[in-house]
Amino acid sequence: MADRDAARRGRGGRGSGGRLALVNAGAVVTGPPPGAPGPVRFPTREHLGIRHGVGIGVEDGRVALIASDDEVGEWFHAGVPDELVDCGGRLITPGLVDAHTHAVFGAPRLDDHARRARGETYQAIAAAGGGILQTVADFRGRGEEELLLLARGRLAWLGALGTTTVEIKSGYGLSLEHELKALRVIAALGAQGPLRVVATFLGGHELPPEYRGGARSREAYVRLIVEEMLPAVAGAGLASFCDVFCEPGAFSLEETAAILGAARERGLGLKLHADELDPSGGAELAARLGAASADHLGAISPRGIEALAASETAAVLLPGTLLFLGAAHQAPARALVDAGAVVAVASDFNPGSSPSGNLPLMMALAVSQARLQPEEAFVAATANAAYALRLDGGAGRLRAGESADLVVWNCREVRELAYWYGMPLAWRTYAAGRPCHALEPGISSPG
Ligand SMILES: [Zn+2]
Repeated sequence: MADRDAARRGRGGRGSGGRLALVNAGAVVTGPPPGAPGPVRFPTREHLGIRHGVGIGVEDGRVALIASDDEVGEWFHAGVPDELVDCGGRLITPGLVDAHTHAVFGAPRLDDHARRARGETYQAIAAAGGGILQTVADFRGRGEEELLLLARGRLAWLGALGTTTVEIKSGYGLSLEHELKALRVIAALGAQGPLRVVATFLGGHELPPEYRGGARSREAYVRLIVEEMLPAVAGAGLASFCDVFCEPGAFSLEETAAILGAARERGLGLKLHADELDPSGGAELAARLGAASADHLGAISPRGIEALAASETAAVLLPGTLLFLGAAHQAPARALVDAGAVVAVASDFNPGSSPSGNLPLMMALAVSQARLQPEEAFVAATANAAYALRLDGGAGRLRAGESADLVVWNCREVRELAYWYGMPLAWRTYAAGRPCHALEPGISSPG
């Protein structure tokens, strides 16, 4: 509890100490009902908790009450009134939870994008100096303050699009010094708020250039992660999770298991980039290790689907990535939901394969490209995304007494969120009761 209070103070809450009231909403979607704190398998409209004729009172960063507009109005005037928002019939939902991003980076990779359009392969782009190692070289050359400033602008974009919780991975440093730099930037973003930030250590993102083909081997890099990076990261309390890019060409099943086994011993939760391009057994490994999530899954096998459905490991789908890369297929979202897996949808916001943190857009793609129902896509970007991060305290749900992370949308019903794709739908976003809409408009590229 002390930790949660500290986290809330860190995110600021409403500074004035006054009360915020949201009334005249078309509908309030609270998320799965109390008594169902876990993930949602087989989501239906019943799981959305749609209420009509109610408003919301917020005080000290928390939801104080969800009650009739009259009651909320009385409560508002009985304390120190700050702001009374007439929602004009708009929809209110919990803030969206983006469970997979790489939001701390320097320059965008504009050349990669143009080269792909000319039909160049990933290998050809990497050979021409593009690809992830370009981002690594760029990242290593930038200071902490500059990276923080860039990331703040980008997180302001996310808030303006309705996201109030964001997971951010390291993984562009790939050395002890630069991975710690990334995680310190992520910690600073969380401390400054208003978004809730979850940090993931991704030292196993890619083999760094200095471990390729020379005297130092890939085994030596895995040892560096296990013996130096993980103790430093866990010792400084800089990450909640450890993630590995488990894919032929990146890290093998054995290397992934070695890194994640060591991470678990250090008290970190586990995540995997799994079966993105090849059905190599990453999903099965995630289930076997009891990982919090297996992410991507564009090439998951039928056995992998079964393994996830029978496990507590969430399947985090990233439909924007495959779309942006021009892939002809998506992860089998329908089969995963129908098998009983816990399915979440995230943006994968990163400079290479998904330069968008627009979660309603990802929900629309999950419906139009991966065949989820709109209600399933909503649960996937709220309650199930919070579960993929093992969060409670109001993330992905609206509850009296918990953090006031909520969005007032420029539409009337929840299915519209996955319909008006790419449109600016969020009207007001509040994270821990603080407005975060159109805060510091982001600047996309470093100068
Ligand atoms: Zn990723």
